[in-house]
Amino acid sequence: MMEDFNSETDSDYTSYWRDWFISSRGNEYFCEIDEEYLTDRFNLTGLNTEVPYYQYALDLVTDVFDLDADDDLREQIEKSARHLYGLVHARYIVTTRGLSKMLDKYKRGDFGKCPRVMCDGHPLLPMGQHDIPNMSTVKLFCAKCEDIYNPKSSRHASIDGAYFGSSFHSILFQVYPALDPEKSVRRYEPRIFGFRVHASAALARWQDRYRSDMIERLEGAGIEVKYLEDFDFEGESEDEEDDFDPLDTRGEEVVGDTASGRMDLGN
Ligand SMILES: [Zn+2]
Repeated sequence: MMEDFNSETDSDYTSYWRDWFISSRGNEYFCEIDEEYLTDRFNLTGLNTEVPYYQYALDLVTDVFDLDADDDLREQIEKSARHLYGLVHARYIVTTRGLSKMLDKYKRGDFGKCPRVMCDGHPLLPMGQHDIPNMSTVKLFCAKCEDIYNPKSSRHASIDGAYFGSSFHSILFQVYPALDPEKSVRRYEPRIFGFRVHASAALARWQDRYRSDMIERLEGAGIEVKYLEDFDFEGESEDEEDDFDPLDTRGEEVVGDTASGRMDLGN
């Protein structure tokens, strides 16, 4: 991609840097930052110490780069420009305008689909585990299972997570609550000839108990939690115990007793 870029004439090199950046392979997760946002110094506070060749990099990103630099320096500035764009991107995508641009990309499925079978191809959102650069690469968040995944392509997998930040995906669902999918308790249960495998059954039981405790606490705080299953089996949702597997008849003693050798559940 750099080759294509360098083969252009000098004037093209300085012209449409953002267009080039957005359309380059591997940069599909990024949205285009508005010119007005980039040229407002307030939005760039603190980045001058974070990015080498800051002013040149900014000129390149804002399409006013005009420097007769040798290839080495140009490459350095190009690298800085990408870093600067990423850092500004993390700030931009939590603004009203940035959120709506990322929402369009989310709806188009630009970030891929959740690989988990039970999520039925739910669309993903890019996110960082850190807000500081060079700590971790970008991950993909599924709002349905509320878990995170590595990007499939190595081009995406090498992008710095700080270019998206650790709050963006949560802010998106706060601003557009209708997009937050209904949560489901549906999960895969390993079975051998129809019988639940012991350790996973014990873990599932513990998770179910933990979940119902949490729901109780939330209800105490006046927050209502509904799972998809509450709608599907309306008659049974009154009694939590009835939702559990009928094979679970031995109760909790199993956890500390026969199961303890196989699995420590911390009880
Ligand atoms: Zn998922």
